[in-house]
Amino acid sequence: MKSLGSIRRDFAPWNDPNAKPYIQFDNVTKKFGDFTAVNNLSLTIFEREFFALLGASGCGKSTLLRMLAGFEEPTSGRILLDGQDLRGIPPHRRPVNMMFQSYALFPHMTVENNIAFGLKQEGMPKPDIEKRVAEMLKLVKLEQFAKRKPHQLSGGQRQRVALARSVAKRPKVLLLDEPLGALDKKLREETQFELMDLQQELGLTFVVVTHDQEEAMTMADRIAIMDKGEVMQVATPAEVYEAPTSRFVAHFVGNVNMFEGKVAERTANTTRIKGATGAEIVVDNAAESSKGADIVFAIRPEKIKVSSKRPADTVNALEGEVYDVAYLGDMTVYHIKLDDGQIVRASALNASRITEDPLTWNDRAWVSFRPDAGVVLTR
Ligand code: ATP
Repeated sequence: MKSLGSIRRDFAPWNDPNAKPYIQFDNVTKKFGDFTAVNNLSLTIFEREFFALLGASGCGKSTLLRMLAGFEEPTSGRILLDGQDLRGIPPHRRPVNMMFQSYALFPHMTVENNIAFGLKQEGMPKPDIEKRVAEMLKLVKLEQFAKRKPHQLSGGQRQRVALARSVAKRPKVLLLDEPLGALDKKLREETQFELMDLQQELGLTFVVVTHDQEEAMTMADRIAIMDKGEVMQVATPAEVYEAPTSRFVAHFVGNVNMFEGKVAERTANTTRIKGATGAEIVVDNAAESSKGADIVFAIRPEKIKVSSKRPADTVNALEGEVYDVAYLGDMTVYHIKLDDGQIVRASALNASRITEDPLTWNDRAWVSFRPDAGVVLTR
């Protein structure tokens, strides 16, 4: 596959055939009575990876995390950590710690006592505890709040106490269930970067559950997109966005336009798709598909150009009318109603202050895109 961009460029053990997975879900199924919450799921996570489980409410993300932590056992299948089968190992004996959405801080204890709690329980000598707590307070930048109680802290500070407490015991894997769920949008964004820095600094493996796609895209090395107890795709944020392998994933992450049709012709490099109402587009070959097969071309709004005249330099140009325009400051979003009735969403970055080809409601307009601007999906 062509390069789709990467943030931690040197870190991609999943592409290394010799790399050993750290966490392995092997055909894991979890049933609650008749209900299957996780369905024959297999997944591997690597050491020092920031891995996100993304999916709508009820898709089984938390159940997966709880099985890894040891709060639930799989109905069938195996979970391995560093090659060791975890079945039967109680939560406190696993090198795994979980940070809950509610944070579950002790309200009557100071910040430092909250952080020290697990260490005391473990029987760590007092001077070592003091040293570790000081280290943790520094790590999450809460040194001056050591003596406060949780109710004297802001939501973001409470989140950091919970984080410090869950990494104090130096687990190898930290599981985070909606770690930023209680924070407002701005604080969430700041905290996402803090979490990434912290994970890098500690060299831990993070598995985070979220239903927020932006959050998963921002933080994770790879994302598993889940639906109804199954994994739909595991890939880097860029791959998930630029090369979704199913309609579900294409729809789940970001905005997308779908051109439905049948394969009219297939040459060595391109596929010509005929839409139900006659419009034709030419796209690069991406999936196996024979003539007459039903096919979908999925393309993101920012890959579509809108213009008042038919552009000369492209094979794919479809005519319609401006149906809606939304000026958002940094970009403008157009809804173009094509002559066959389909509404196409296109977004244009407002890179300069003056628009050369301004379009407004009811104007005739062309949408155009390159054959490699989207992906062909067959499922
Ligand atoms: P959310 O984002 O809402 O937490 P989730 O993807 O984490 O959703 P899970 O908590 O894993 O979802 O739950 C998956 C499904 O399993 C849900 O339909 C839930 O009702 C069901 N479920 C979870 N725990 C139990 C249980 N102990 N008994 C019965 N059903 C359960």
